[in-house]
Amino acid sequence: MRIGIDLGGTKIEAIAIEGASTVLRRRITAPRGDYPATIGAVRDLVAAIEHELGASCSVGIGIPGALSTLTGLVKNANSTWLIGHPLDRDLERVLGRPVRVTNDANCFALSEATDGAAQGAGTVFGAILGTGTGGGVVVNGRVLEGRHRIAGEWGHNPLPWPRDSERPGPACYCGRTGCIETFLSGPALSATYKTISGRSAEPAEIAARADAGDAGANDALAVYETRLARALASIINVLDPDVIVLGGGVSNISRLYVNVPPLLKPFVFSDAADPPVVPAQHGDSSGVRGAAWLWP
Ligand SMILES: [Zn+2]
Repeated sequence: MRIGIDLGGTKIEAIAIEGASTVLRRRITAPRGDYPATIGAVRDLVAAIEHELGASCSVGIGIPGALSTLTGLVKNANSTWLIGHPLDRDLERVLGRPVRVTNDANCFALSEATDGAAQGAGTVFGAILGTGTGGGVVVNGRVLEGRHRIAGEWGHNPLPWPRDSERPGPACYCGRTGCIETFLSGPALSATYKTISGRSAEPAEIAARADAGDAGANDALAVYETRLARALASIINVLDPDVIVLGGGVSNISRLYVNVPPLLKPFVFSDAADPPVVPAQHGDSSGVRGAAWLWP
């Protein structure tokens, strides 16, 4: 049996999978800001699950960041209390077994490629459009980690084919300006709507207002769709994926799947620009499921 753990900033979620079936699921509040407590919480979660199942399991973990290949320490994590720690070694010590740790967007892509919206596809690009803008690549059922474990991280590339009004673009926490994340995250969509309409709303509310005929909401989403199309086109030109799966809060906006595909063509270096762009099948559970799938 496999245990998958999604080490989120606000919650830690765990799942046990046997075959293709979820046997049990646990969710606890993350000990924010406390690294030793985080290690202890994962240890206790695994112990409780194994006690209940009466079985020893493999453990895979998705984190909001990556392990540096230079130092072996966590980097790029928005759960900043994990940064600079040897998370995999600390967990292996308290769990008494090898663990596999990867970025949560990689887990998302792996889950959808294994038995989700991209099942059976050769090359899958999984994009998370949420608080941030992450991404992961799965090729023939395996996560493509990359030399520096940043494969698929498109969020801090610049928005491609920018319009004059999009240059230099908003400042990003990574120190650059005009990153894809500053245009395609959920907060970025809300900011676009605020600029156009003067009003504040979360992405789901913006979509509901657009459906109800609100011109400002419709315009904000139309702008968002052109940006998403350009950003995905640049991925298609490098990776040529068989399927693109979208996850995260913004991916629940159904009109994206109608409006974005026709916008790809002018930017894709091919006579065809038709990779399916589909919503995640497992929704919020993809991260934790993909973590379990890290072990064969
Ligand atoms: Zn950035």
